[in-house]
Formats: sequence, structure tokens, C-alpha cells
Amino acid sequence: MNFPTFDINKVKTPCYVTEECYLKYNGEILKSVQDRTGCRILLAQKAFSMYSTYPLLKNYLAGTTASGAYEARLGYEHFGCYEGKETHVYSPAYKKSDIDELINYAEHFVFNSIRQFSLHKEKLSGKSCGIRVNPRFSTQGDHEIYDPCAKNSRLGQTVESFKADVEKYGLDGISGLHFHTLCEQNSDDLESTAMEVEKQFGEYLYDMKWINFGGGHHITRDDYDIERLVRVIEHFKCKYDLQVYLEPGEAVALNAGFLVSEVVDIIDGSKNGDMDIAIMDVSAACHMPDVLEMPYRPKLLDSRNSLAGEKGEKAYTYRLGTVTCLAGDIIGDYSFDEPLKVGDRLVFCDMAIYSMVKNNTFNGMALPTIYYNTEEGLKLIREFTYDDFKSRI
Ligand SMILES: *Cc1c(COP(=O)(O)O)cnc(C)c1O
Repeated sequence: MNFPTFDINKVKTPCYVTEECYLKYNGEILKSVQDRTGCRILLAQKAFSMYSTYPLLKNYLAGTTASGAYEARLGYEHFGCYEGKETHVYSPAYKKSDIDELINYAEHFVFNSIRQFSLHKEKLSGKSCGIRVNPRFSTQGDHEIYDPCAKNSRLGQTVESFKADVEKYGLDGISGLHFHTLCEQNSDDLESTAMEVEKQFGEYLYDMKWINFGGGHHITRDDYDIERLVRVIEHFKCKYDLQVYLEPGEAVALNAGFLVSEVVDIIDGSKNGDMDIAIMDVSAACHMPDVLEMPYRPKLLDSRNSLAGEKGEKAYTYRLGTVTCLAGDIIGDYSFDEPLKVGDRLVFCDMAIYSMVKNNTFNGMALPTIYYNTEEGLKLIREFTYDDFKSRI
């Protein structure tokens, strides 16, 4: 677990603070995997698009991947396309106008089916095109919202559908296969998934130039089995002579950022339940929507940098709510050694990923200020105002 290395009292709240030292730590791990295996690792911008960090990240990564034109353009313009960095894009379907724009930014295109590719292939000469496959091999347990292998999934082509399309359209112009089925998983799940992909699609791999293992690899987590990842990459590289790509989002900025918040008020809970309520200046719905969607419980540090406990674990338990009108906008129940006071600062951990990219101004909530903490100190990257709220509507 990472602690803030900046003074939490020197920032405006609410704010996200991303820390260079932790991005570097992750970057070194990802770079070592690439150096050892020759694989290329791309940043999935869906998870983390804080482009002020791209000058740092491009020291470690081979490029970016995008889910559409905006992300592709951001990666192209800020991640060093002029220095040989790659821009990949995948979408379940492209409009003609999407392709017209994307060809300016991306050189690798992943399609959801050979049929989708056939609709656009004329415009794609000189581009490297691949197909996303769906091995229908789920390793995720109960996270159906994050499981591309769930029944009726729209994401990727099953082997039956792929074979039918090969009959109809051939494989001309297709040089890669892509699968993405993991979410916060270790390399044992990657291995079993990759073996399944090989079983189903292996006969086609000899004709391909690359394979993309997608994202969801928690490579920078302490207990991640990197040796197994290396073996899986080497297998595809050696047996099929493939360039292997990985496109993690989370792993790039895992534990690299914080959301600093302040207690606005405290409500006595004894008249309407069994715990006091702290009203915070951050909202789960607006500033960390995965807390409600996934759902999950972020780690929380109190103003003295000690980790808050589960409900009832420490002497003083509070439900953390916020100033929006949504009854369910609850961050969670946490306990502390000392009573909370108005003005106390609380720090939510692991808030660089799926936070800034997902936040919104529901209920007129302000967007948190963004800081980047580097060796030169805290840099204010962006502050938001009324105009940011107004201009979107
Ligand atoms: C979400 C996504 C990623 C990144 O996933 P992480 O869980 O953040 O590593 C990569 N590729 C595709 C196609 C995705 O949808």
C-alpha cells in the first residue's frame, strides 16, 4: 500500500493527486517485462488519461490504446507518436466517419469481427488490423459488468462466428488477434485464458504478426506472478513468431494517486440509526463512481495517515456520505481511532485509475482539482469552475 508523499494540508480539496514516484515504480516493472520478453505494453487510456504524466510514461511504455477518436487523438498528440510510439484503437463498431478521423491517429486497428473489418477495409491500407476474439472462457467469478465473456456479450467474435466469417470474407488484410477478458487478475488466469484462445484460434495464429492480450493484468500488484506472465508471452512469441502486446490500464497507475477530501459536517446518528454520518466534499457518484458500480471499498487514510478500519473495528465509526441529493451516494462505513472533526482531511487511496476519466458534475458538483506531485514538488494541473459545469449542457 502506498502513502501520500505530499503534505495533504497544502492542497485544495477535493483534489486528485497523482504521484510521479509511484508511476515510476510501476513503469519500471512494466519496462522490465518488455525488456525481458520483447513484448510491447500500451497504456489503456480508458483507465488513466492524465496526459501531463505521458512525458514520464513514455519512458516505460510502447504507446497507448484507445476506445475511440478522442482517446486516440490524445495518445497520438501527447504520447510521442513522433518518437515511434504506437497508437492502437479498438471499438465494438466504427462509423465511417470514425474511421475517417481515426486514420489520422492510429496505426493499429482492432475490429469486433471480420465482417466489421470488411466494411472499412478500403480505407485502411498501410494500417495493421486485427480482430478481437471472445474465447467464452470466463475467469472472473461474480463481476458480470466487467466480464466480456458473459452470455450475450457484444465484445469480440466467438470461434464459430470467426470461422463462418473466414469462409465468407477470408483473412486478407488481417494481421493480429486480440482478446480482453480479464479484470484485476493474476497471470494464472491469463495463462488459462491464453491456452483456451490457442486451443480455439491456434490454427490462425501462424498467419498473424501479433497477438494482443488486452488489459486486466494486475502486473504491478505485489503478489503478481511475473515469471508466469513471461512464460506465456514467450510461448506465443516462440511457437507462432508473434509480437505480443499487452494493454493494461490499471497496472500503469495502480496505487499511484489519491483523492483528498474534507469533512464538511457531522450528523449525530443516534436519532436515526446506529452510526454518525460524516458529510464529505467528495461524492462516490461523481468522483469515484466505481465505488458504486463495481462495487468496491477504497482504502482510506485519516488526517494522521493511519488506515481507517471496517465498521466497528476502531472506536469511532462513521458512514461517509456527501452533499449530493442521491440517497445512495455513500462511500462506505469506516472507523477511526479518534472522533472526526469538521475540516479534517481524509485521503482515499488508489484514486488515479478509473476516477478522473469517469467523473461528472451530477447535482452541480464541482470536479476535483488535479495535481501532479513530482520531484520538483506539487504541480497544479487543472482547476475547474462553474464554466466547466455549464459548458457541457
Ligand atoms: C478496459 C480495457 C483495457 C484496460 O483494462 P484494465 O483493467 O484497466 O487493465 C484494455 N483493453 C480493453 C479492450 C479494455 O476494454
